Amino acid sequence: MKITMLGTGYVGLVSGTCFSEFGFDVCCVDKDKDKITNLKKNIIPIYEPGLENLVKKNKDANRLTFSNDVKKNIAEADIVFIAVGTPARRGDGHADLSYVYEVAKEIANNLMGYTVIVTKSTVPVGTGNEIKKIIKKANPKAKFDVVSNPEFLREGNAIEDFMRPDRVVVGCETEKAKEVISKIYKPLFLIETPILFTDLKTAELIKYAGNAFLAVKISYINQMADLCEKVGADVHDVSRGIGLDKRIGSKFLHPGPGYGGSCFPKDTQALVKTANHYGSNISIVENVINYNSQRKLDMAEKIISALGKNYSNKKISILGLAFKPETDDMRESPCLDIIPKLQEKNIQISAFDPVAMDEAKKLLQNVQFKESIEECINNSDALVILTEWNEFRSLSPERLKKHMKGNILIDLRNALNPDSFRESGFNLIQVGRPNLPSQ
Ligand code: NAD
Repeated sequence: MKITMLGTGYVGLVSGTCFSEFGFDVCCVDKDKDKITNLKKNIIPIYEPGLENLVKKNKDANRLTFSNDVKKNIAEADIVFIAVGTPARRGDGHADLSYVYEVAKEIANNLMGYTVIVTKSTVPVGTGNEIKKIIKKANPKAKFDVVSNPEFLREGNAIEDFMRPDRVVVGCETEKAKEVISKIYKPLFLIETPILFTDLKTAELIKYAGNAFLAVKISYINQMADLCEKVGADVHDVSRGIGLDKRIGSKFLHPGPGYGGSCFPKDTQALVKTANHYGSNISIVENVINYNSQRKLDMAEKIISALGKNYSNKKISILGLAFKPETDDMRESPCLDIIPKLQEKNIQISAFDPVAMDEAKKLLQNVQFKESIEECINNSDALVILTEWNEFRSLSPERLKKHMKGNILIDLRNALNPDSFRESGFNLIQVGRPNLPSQ
């Protein structure tokens, strides 16, 4: 069974590598020549824990190859996965399906024998049917089925998520396609992973419904954090108190500066577009999108007000730039909204992230990027934690005092343990918790 993965980004590279680890013959294809040249030399284009070793292992076993040759690899495949990007379309927020439809045409023109075409990209309801139409029109004799198999992996934990997922969702319409998909997911079936077979449209909608639900959950706890600050309660205890209720669950109840990343912002917008198109009420998600955008700006205000009246020209150090730990993905990271707002007030910014600095340099101007925590916080008036990397969690008052000029800590991820900072002389400001005043 030969698998071709079209698109070798976060999803395509991880999924392709994991399928090769299952024992299948996989070729990861991308139109980006540099990416493929580098992958052939074991240079991995993204930071994802464990991925480099897994790629090397399967390449060495000749199960995993990389190529720019789209045509040949479509013709040779039994299964073609579409794993190209579906970013928000500029200006209107619809999912931009141009990459998906471009590969659909390539697939149509190069199919040889019965092939199962699987969309792993996150695509709006009805896209699978559109792909079918494109292929039938361009190649009426082609023998194929279209399947929807949305991906739920999380960056930073992607291999584990692929190898031991909570569930696999498969939208398919023929027994033949179901048989092929069942074969490639047999290793997961053997570890009793629930595999949910649905029709095409339902599978497509499950992905959006899931991501939007998580965005709602994050925004809900962020609003609870706001309320905690007003009434003097601790949001961590609120999260624990409600999360222990099995109907609610404890995940995604951690407050912060607002969600970001390559999925939630664009997927919530695309879901709203779909619902609007069909005249269906989606006000919960619409409100969440607006609240989340405002939250990032409110977090900039929170930092400015923590700096006091003379905020202008203060020097602050920012630890963490990626939208979450264990990734170098900067797409829609909250820092991209927060930092420019601070700069408008003439606040000087130095920044450090353990892996996302190269990506951040492409997106942020007038920031002094530093090579270590120490260099970053040196001589600064205030420290802001924007991403909860483990190495920031262990920062102690003693270590900070050695380098910082000021005593203001604004921890927008609640990564620091307030007990360690009591009577330390630091003013610790967190999210949804009483502040620790400097004494
Ligand atoms: P990405 O931007 O990292 O990768 C997409 C890749 O597709 C790029 O390398 C690009 O060069 C390649 N590509 C584009 N057009 C091509 C073509 N015609 N032929 C060959 N290659 C082509 O995107 P990603 O983050 O991997 O996301 C891919 C899809 O998976 C999106 O729909 C996304 O919503 C979804 N998804 C992403 C995640 C995530 O955590 N990143 C999780 C679940 C689902």
